[in-house]
Amino acid sequence: MLEDRKLTRRGFVGAALVGSMGVAASSFLAGCSAPEAASDKGAESWDEEVDVVVIGSGGAGLAAAVEAANAGASVIVLEKTNIVGGDSTLCDGILGGWGTKLAKAQEIDVSADEVYDWFMGHPDWYGPKDPEVARVLADKSGETIDWLQEIGVAASSKKGDVRIKANKGVVMATGSYAGSPAMLAQLNAESAHLLPGSNPGATGDGLAMAMDIGAYTARASELPLMSSLAGVESGSIVNWNYYERLHGLWLDANGERFFNEETNYENPNGHRAIVRKQNEQGTQVIAFIGTTPELEAVLAVRPIEWATGETVEEVAEAVGLDGAKVKATVERFNSLCETGEADDFGRPAEFMVPLTGPFYAAPISVSTSVTMGGFRTNTEAQALKLMAPTKDGSLTSPIPGLYAAGVACEWNCAAGATVLCAVTLGRIAGQNVAKETPAA
Ligand SMILES: Cc1cc2nc3c(=O)[nH]c(=O)nc-3n(C[C@H](O)[C@H](O)[C@H](O)COP(=O)(O)OP(=O)(O)OC[C@H]3O[C@@H](n4cnc5c(N)ncnc54)[C@H](O)[C@@H]3O)c2cc1C
Repeated sequence: MLEDRKLTRRGFVGAALVGSMGVAASSFLAGCSAPEAASDKGAESWDEEVDVVVIGSGGAGLAAAVEAANAGASVIVLEKTNIVGGDSTLCDGILGGWGTKLAKAQEIDVSADEVYDWFMGHPDWYGPKDPEVARVLADKSGETIDWLQEIGVAASSKKGDVRIKANKGVVMATGSYAGSPAMLAQLNAESAHLLPGSNPGATGDGLAMAMDIGAYTARASELPLMSSLAGVESGSIVNWNYYERLHGLWLDANGERFFNEETNYENPNGHRAIVRKQNEQGTQVIAFIGTTPELEAVLAVRPIEWATGETVEEVAEAVGLDGAKVKATVERFNSLCETGEADDFGRPAEFMVPLTGPFYAAPISVSTSVTMGGFRTNTEAQALKLMAPTKDGSLTSPIPGLYAAGVACEWNCAAGATVLCAVTLGRIAGQNVAKETPAA
């Protein structure tokens, strides 16, 4: 069966189903379709043969490669960009685990159950998780940090179209689609104006290939929405609710407030409120701030190049809003701060600080650096297919020889744990693919 197939994406399916996989590297990987010359060749004419092919060189892919190689498998890592590392090299470096050597040295006492509860928390923010996969990711999170501290990774690249036979299997570790405005708009209409926050290689190739081969994908259109950035246009960017908490107001095209501006950055509902308002009115939402100690701390290290002035009206008009309307909004907000009355939008009392000048304003852009959907795997990192109920009640079964890890998979963790979970599932994938029996 395999021998008859050309190495198109369909050929990839066939290969997957018989447990021995072939991949035509470079343009296949870049464009998710086989190069003509390669697809014309028969499956017997491989350029290279290895035990394991890993697609994607981010944290998940490299972890899979290291583990597979440590288990004695020959491995090739394919990377479509000319930079190794994907989003895993852009990440802010927040790694949440428990029981690590570092934590023990500092007498930090967190349990696996607490990490698991954190992953499973806030289904209203991040949707449902697979409890079994989340459990494994939580249990192994500390071990992964210790492992990372002990390894080093070297990688190399090749040019040209290459057909590679993977005798034991393939690990899909192609990351998210949060680097592609087109894919973001395609999969989630609400995010058509979203700022892509990932590396340009994050174009959802893995997700497209998963769908093409009939793998079970879940939550493909879901995004966590990670940042609300004001001042992108002027190049003077403030990450609104992250580490620079510049308290202020979000204003719609009428110069009115519409949401609790102090919604924590991890809660995507704040970012979502901005995106939805922007889509509804067809123009960007405006961040409007007064002078606070937080702003002065920022100004002490770098200028904020936004519209600025001594009066509310002049700053509002500089960003295209009606000065009188914004003045009324600011006066209403300031009076709530002073009288201690409940805020119209549920903003906590501690953040009810009156706005005083000089004032600053800039449009807000929302971005995401992660997507939530992709391959559904089991706890062994095997990519699954969905089936009509079998006699024993099963609804899924592993696709032989196909593993997946990282953000190419369904998201089963919490904000700040993505890279660590990518590495953890990548390690599991690498350990297991190396144990596969080579195809005859
Ligand atoms: C700015 C930023 C900050 C972040 N901060 C944090 C943080 O503090 N903590 C945290 O936990 N997470 C954070 N994240 C998220 C986290 O970094 C990523 O979700 C995680 O690293 C993804 O790992 P991965 O291996 O699945 O994908 P990636 O690291 O993105 O790797 C995927 C690789 O696959 C390659 N690829 C794609 N398609 C193909 C193809 N067809 N053929 C070959 N190669 C392909 C890509 O080019 C890329 O190199 C952040 C992300 C960003 C962008």
